[in-house]
Amino acid sequence: PYILAIESSCDETAASVIGNGKILSNIVATQDVHIKYGGIVPELASRAHQQNIIPVVNQALLNANITKSMLNAVAVTKGPGLLGSLLVGISFAKSFALGLNVPLIEVNHMQAHILSHFIDDPKPEFPFICLTVSGGHTQIVLVKNHLEMEILGETQDDAVGEAFDKSAKLLGLPYPGGPLIDKYAQEGNSQAYTFPKVDTPGLNFSFSGIKTAILYFLQNNTMKDEQFIAKNLNNICASIQYTLIDILMRKLRKAVQETGIREVAIAGGVSANKGLRKVLEMEANTQGWKVYVPDFQYCTDNAAMIAMAAHFKYVKGDFSSQALVPDPRMNF
Ligand code: ATP
Ligand code: MG
Ligand code: FE
Repeated sequence: PYILAIESSCDETAASVIGNGKILSNIVATQDVHIKYGGIVPELASRAHQQNIIPVVNQALLNANITKSMLNAVAVTKGPGLLGSLLVGISFAKSFALGLNVPLIEVNHMQAHILSHFIDDPKPEFPFICLTVSGGHTQIVLVKNHLEMEILGETQDDAVGEAFDKSAKLLGLPYPGGPLIDKYAQEGNSQAYTFPKVDTPGLNFSFSGIKTAILYFLQNNTMKDEQFIAKNLNNICASIQYTLIDILMRKLRKAVQETGIREVAIAGGVSANKGLRKVLEMEANTQGWKVYVPDFQYCTDNAAMIAMAAHFKYVKGDFSSQALVPDPRMNF
């Protein structure tokens, strides 16, 4: 089957075509209207989605070398995400499916991040543990099969991607700052500064304390030396990144210990982080984990992951009706 998938949950408008389980095209339009605001402005995101969606879908069909009459289904992200952003993708997908008289498939964005591991080889074996780390979520998920997943732990406040981005903002770096912290961290000493870590119960995370600690640390030091950040940017980034990764890894190790599952995957925007990838590789070598990291193009938001998830649902005959509405806080 050929399926067109649409993703519009946040600030990327994306479309992808999958044919018999193989990704044929993957188009992402990233919105740059938010840069000058230092974060996503929901109303501007919806408007940009409206402008981008038709050209993005056309390009996805073109690159896949198929016409819309060849489509067997249309898939779309139902949630979680921004209500107005989701609404654009869902309204478009519903009318497109109706017009073509093909079934509609709803996809959970967080499950899709995880299912990006099934686009290319090597694929994890079930059951596996996935650390999903993105701009809005931080979860440890037990993945039982393609469509059955259980959240073992998650953040009680900020997401780790948010912690990266907010730290970057305090350092005067442009949005989204996560990739820039990653870049400067590679040239810095991760032990230059230490930040207090507060432990949370079980497999849940908390990142709000560390955010405040970083704020005070920077305020104190710039009071003493105005040039503190400029002079020590690499070391500051390396230390912040080390601390955030350490929080993630403590819980991930605990999850492996508690479940006895050594198939470990990471997914979501922060899984692009080079420091996190390196630590996981070390863990694989020393602890015998089998580690899976997605291709860089499938870490941050994209529609190929939505298409992959939709393929599994299509095979099962799991379709949605025209009554489909966005679910901004969608759970598993
Ligand atoms: P969610 O998936 O929870 O709805 P989202 O879709 O906005 O949120 P993604 O697009 O998956 O999130 O990821 C974006 C996040 O990933 C941003 O916070 C960004 O800073 C972070 N990120 C991307 N690359 C890196 C990197 N190399 N190092 C650290 N963080 C990164
Ligand atoms: Mg984004
Ligand atoms: Fe995402």
